[in-house]
Amino acid sequence: MSRLTQRSRSIAGRTAIVTGAASGMGRATAHLFADEGARVVVVDLNAEGVEAVAAEIRAAGGEVLAFALDVSDAAAVADAVAQVATTFGGIDILVNNAGISVPAPLQLDDFEERWDRTLAVNLTAHVIWVRACLTHLEQSDAGRIVNIASTEGLGATAMISPYTASKHGVVGLTRSLAMELGPRGITVNCICPGPIHTGMTQDIPDEAKNKFARRRVPLRRYGDPEEVAHGTLSFVLPASSFITGAVLPVDGGLTVQNT
Ligand code: NAD
Repeated sequence: MSRLTQRSRSIAGRTAIVTGAASGMGRATAHLFADEGARVVVVDLNAEGVEAVAAEIRAAGGEVLAFALDVSDAAAVADAVAQVATTFGGIDILVNNAGISVPAPLQLDDFEERWDRTLAVNLTAHVIWVRACLTHLEQSDAGRIVNIASTEGLGATAMISPYTASKHGVVGLTRSLAMELGPRGITVNCICPGPIHTGMTQDIPDEAKNKFARRRVPLRRYGDPEEVAHGTLSFVLPASSFITGAVLPVDGGLTVQNT
């Protein structure tokens, strides 16, 4: 029998960046990581929101840095990453979570604007963050990247083609970066959440949510942001050292239901 080795099931003392952390899944992930003893860097366009989350984490005894910036602004990202590395002495974990969803039927006059903005935030920003964090992740003994895509990265809904294209892009990017960064000791995985109660879905009336869940979700409900955060945590553990290029639906079974 081969020798059993001890691998860490803890992220205590690790430094983790979570984008889009003022709300929804990003906020839940930042809280969970801080509860697990990680130093957390919360990033969001919403300055008030991200400061509020940082204050909650601090009040609970966690170590946290907050940045109010646009994730697709490469110069701002580079500055923030440099500050994180100086303050915390390195970066172990990057969670690319910030995202937007806007209706975009093809006939809209401002379709191209919606396309460009969606691709910039949901896809290009992921690469900007990976490139900015790369040397630090490489220096970690357990460098981890998790990209938050969507079940729209595996299937499609009408009238949101920029969103669907961006999320299919995140799946492809994850697989490509897993190939490229595997030899450099960094794992890259992707989560595809199904319908989740967050800021993004808050305007959908409860009745419509329940109807959708009854028809499409084997677990018959929307998920909670914490249920996605736990999937993300499992990917970033040092012990998850042989999982890379994986695409994990956290969707209550939506993507396996056939009828
Ligand atoms: P949310 O709206 O609650 O949170 C998204 C956060 O991202 C917000 O705080 C927002 O301010 C921030 N953000 C948006 N654009 C930004 C930018 N340019 N720079 C910095 N921050 C920015 O939504 P959520 O559902 O928690 O979304 C998290 C991720 O999950 C997104 O990538 C989304 O596409 C994905 N997702 C959501 C669902 C769902 O049902 N809620 C399903 C599948 C995938």
